[in-house]
Amino acid sequence: MARRRVPRGPGSRPLDLTRVVTKHDGAWQVRPLTGAASTKPYTCPGCHRVIPVATPHVVVWPVEKALLSKDALEERRHWHTVCWERRN
Ligand SMILES: [Zn+2]
Repeated sequence: MARRRVPRGPGSRPLDLTRVVTKHDGAWQVRPLTGAASTKPYTCPGCHRVIPVATPHVVVWPVEKALLSKDALEERRHWHTVCWERRN
């Protein structure tokens, strides 16, 4: 059995999957949530339908608010991934 060398990744640090996306109304931090991390139902602002518990989706908040500041937390929105990507 041939042993393959697996290229080393950036290490065992937890991956920060947050990325910045620019839409017509500004720049947003976008963080994907796994189904396991989704423990509450949310209403998607894109389609006004519920994102059921355990559904992978994205959380977005404005870039200009500091992460985890009170303002940023209040402005966090949970979106269906497809609804967010459809948004301009
Ligand atoms: Zn939606």
